[in-house]
Parts: sequence; C-alpha cells; structure tokens
Amino acid sequence: MGNVDYSKYSKLSPFELKDNLIELAQSKTDRMMLNAGRGNPNFLATIPRRAFFQLGLFSTTESEFSFSYMPEGLGGFPRPVGLQSRFDNFIMHNRDKPGVVFLGKAISYVRDQLGLDPDAFLLEMVEGILGCNYPVPDRMLRISESIIKEYILREMGVQGMPKEGLDLFAVEGGTAAMAYIFNSLKENKMIAHGDRIAIGTPIFTPYLEIPKLNDYQLEEVLIEADPKLDWQYPESELRKLEDPSIKAFFLVNPSNPPSVKLSDEGLAILADIVKKRPDLIILTDDVYGTFADNFKSLFAVCPDNTILVYSFSKYFGATGWRLGVIALSNNNILDQKLATLSKKDKKELEERYSSLTTDPAKIKFIDRLVADSRNVALNHTAGLSTPQQVQMVLFALFNMMDSQQNYKKAVKSVVRERDAALYRQLGVAVPEDPNSVDYYTLVNLENTSRTLYGDEFADWVMKNKNPTELLFRVADETGVVLLPGSGFGVLHPSARASLANLNEYQYAAIGDSLRRFAEESYQEYLKTKKGKK
Ligand SMILES: *Cc1c(COP(=O)(O)O)cnc(C)c1O
Repeated sequence: MGNVDYSKYSKLSPFELKDNLIELAQSKTDRMMLNAGRGNPNFLATIPRRAFFQLGLFSTTESEFSFSYMPEGLGGFPRPVGLQSRFDNFIMHNRDKPGVVFLGKAISYVRDQLGLDPDAFLLEMVEGILGCNYPVPDRMLRISESIIKEYILREMGVQGMPKEGLDLFAVEGGTAAMAYIFNSLKENKMIAHGDRIAIGTPIFTPYLEIPKLNDYQLEEVLIEADPKLDWQYPESELRKLEDPSIKAFFLVNPSNPPSVKLSDEGLAILADIVKKRPDLIILTDDVYGTFADNFKSLFAVCPDNTILVYSFSKYFGATGWRLGVIALSNNNILDQKLATLSKKDKKELEERYSSLTTDPAKIKFIDRLVADSRNVALNHTAGLSTPQQVQMVLFALFNMMDSQQNYKKAVKSVVRERDAALYRQLGVAVPEDPNSVDYYTLVNLENTSRTLYGDEFADWVMKNKNPTELLFRVADETGVVLLPGSGFGVLHPSARASLANLNEYQYAAIGDSLRRFAEESYQEYLKTKKGKK
C-alpha cells in the first residue's frame, strides 16, 4: 500500500475518471465492486408495474375479441361498447392478483376522487397500452395529462393553481426534457450565443456542459451553494440574478449532489428577485422533489417564470422506462417574450412553424417544444409512446391513492438508513438538516479530517493529500467507487456517494474504508511531524 502512483489520474475528464475508477475497482477478482457513483436506484415500485402487465393482458384480449372471426394472432382496435362491464368482470375474476385489485381501485379513484370520466379513462388506458395509435394529442394524452397534472401540483407543493392553469408535455425522461428545452429556447431566440446564464452549483454535470457546447456558447455565471450553510445559496449569490444581463437561471432542486431542497428563505428571496426581474427565465429540475419532506418547487413560488422538469426515474425506480414531464404555467413569460420579439425574428419563426397551422405566431412555447422535438417537419409523429404514458399514469395514481404514503415513507427511510450506516462506520455524526433529502451524500474531506483528528491534521490533509488520488486509492484497495464532488462543481474536496443504489451493509463498508484511510493518513501525518522535530 502507498507505493502505487495515482497521480496520472488527476488530469482525466469526468467520464474518463469514472471509467478508470470502475476499472480499478473491478481489477481484483476476489471481491465485489461497490459502485456508489451511480444515481440509479436499486429499489422499484412493483404494484403499478403489476397493474401495467395485467392491464396489458386484458387489453390484448379486448383487441382479439373485436376481430374474433379472424385468424389467431390478428386483433383489432378495442371497442368502447361494453368495455367497462367486461373490465369489471375481469377485475371480479382476478381478485387474487394485487395488480388487478389496484386497477379496480384506480378506476374508482379516477371517478370519485379526481372527478374524471371513468369510461373515457379506461378506453384511453386500453388503447394506450396496446400502442395502436400515434400519440394524440402529441403533447400528452388527454386524461393522462389531467391525472399527471394533479400529481405534479400535489408533489411539487403548488397551492391555489387550478389544473387548467398549467400544461404538460410528456417526455422520455428528465434528460430528454433538458435537451428539448435548451434547443427550443435557442430556436425561439430566448437565449443566443454569448448570453449570460446563471447555474446553481453544485449541479448534475450536463447542466454545466450543455451551455458551453458550440450550439449554445453561453457564458456561465455560477450561483454557488455554501457548504457552511448546509448547502443553501447565500443571499449574496442569489442576488447576482438581479443583474439584467442574466437571461436565465438553471437549478436542480433538491440539489444533486448535496441533496438538499431550497430552504423557505431561499424560495422567498427568489420570489423577491423575480418581482424585480419579471423577465428572468427559471428552469428547475425537481427530479428529487418526491424524496423531500414538505417539498415546495420554485414552480409553486414563481409559476410564470419557471419551466418545471420532473422525472419518474428515481422515485419509482424506473430509469429504463424513460418517463418525465415538462410543466409550464399557461400564463408564462416565454409566451409573452414570443409576442415581443423583433419583426425579423417573428417572421423567421413564423416560417419555421408554418407547416403546423395557418397562424404560427399563436403557437405556445410548450407546443413549440413538441414540434422542435421532431425538427418541426416530423411533428405528426411527436410525443411519448402511449404505453409509456400508461405506466406513468399508473405510477402517479399509485402514489396519490396511497393515503398513508407508505411507499414514500419506505423509499425515504431506505436512503436515510443507508446514510446513517455510512456515517456510523466513518465515526462522524450524520449531518442533521431538515432540508436534507439524503439521496446522495457528500463526504467532505476537510470536515471529516477535522472531526476525526483535529484542526492541525485537517490542514495537513488539505495541503498534502490529492482528493482525486484518494478516490483512486479507495477504488483500488477496496473496490468502492465514489465520484469526486469536483465533477459536479463542488469546490471543496469531497466524495459523492449515491445512497440509492447499494445495500445498507455496503454503505457501512464504504464508511469503514474511508475511516481506515483517515487512520492511515493520520499515522503518516504523525510520522512527518516527528521527522520535522
Ligand atoms: C437522475 C437525474 C435526472 C433523471 O433523468 P432521466 O432522464 O429522467 O432518467 C434528471 N436530472 C437530474 C439532476 C438527475 O440527477
């Protein structure tokens, strides 16, 4: 130990670094690699998936029923007449199956609690799961949109906004949402080469990388969260947004990697800033909102300025499903900006969208997102696949129908117990913070050294230990992959561990190995101290 040269790894790009860490961690065959670098959860919601497959079988039978004189294997479109009573029959005969019981309850919930037409809902689900029509409307299926709106309003802490107050675009996950939004903002002249864009850091790396791409060439202004304030943004940082040269503010809330939600004070400051900057575009990625206690999105506070991105990937353990939505208030400043563009820009955009309608100037920004997602010309095949929309609806209903919030409590306690196990073995108290979400944790090198062996040792570590090399040593010697916080714009040396994708004892092992490195470093420090005397 100690004589391997890890310094060659210091200059790698974030992706190379990750690949090299994994390679090193896998290099010894007699142990298991523990990759705590991945955000992919290792838990998943099963009941709404059971419901999906049961509904699929019922719907396929419906299809065959409509063409019963045809050869085996050929079905037709499901028939609305009598659909509800055949479905009731199906529920009655399969009451021993949890997915079927859930489906039966879902229909009554949609009728009695949400006040929607149960026949239309069932038909939309049956046709949707068969995937036998292009998605129409392309932005989102009608009743599905209504249900997901309810889910978004509740989970994002939006109060006093009627469902008619917002529009949704169903997309292939949060990352597709980002790509679509960046592109449409550019195509619609909301952001242009050289514009200044504020980014709340630390942040999921793509938000730092996309604006720098040749397509965008934006100038980044960082709004830095402060580790000494439990990773909230200091007011002075937020006030930078009052500078009118800043066009937009992008943030992830709750953040990744510090994994804290914006505090109530932070929300209030931003509301005040928006009063002074009514033109400021906000893009908030609230993927982790469903893991927070009493979450309130910026969309709830500044609805007209804010583009909301939500993904089903993390909370439902559904990264492979590719499910997300973009939400916009229908009184949003993007539509207002479209109306005030120069004559030349308006003319250019009217030409861009002229194939869609005779009055392209009236197309709302959210519908432009849909059209742009297929390069406008292929707009007729835009939209999220209908079976995906069905699974999204079943996920959302599952969460809304769970009046005791048992699923939510379960996933929250899973990540929090893992957090506790890691810090227990490390020998440091778990950071206590009501805004903390604990989907990730950042182990701070300096603070940990200070807590374990005092100030002088912490100073020595900061001067003499390269944090990237430390992560490579951990990977090489223990098989544990942690990512450097620096890849996410964290300024202080730190290691990010995802609390979502390993089991509790493995987090204890990670805490253990970090603790051993601290002890060894301390011995080394004592030796050099002696040598100097
Ligand atoms: C994981 C994650 C996403 C999810 O992206 P999907 O494409 O929906 O899987 C989005 N934003 C952030 C900040 C994330 O960490």
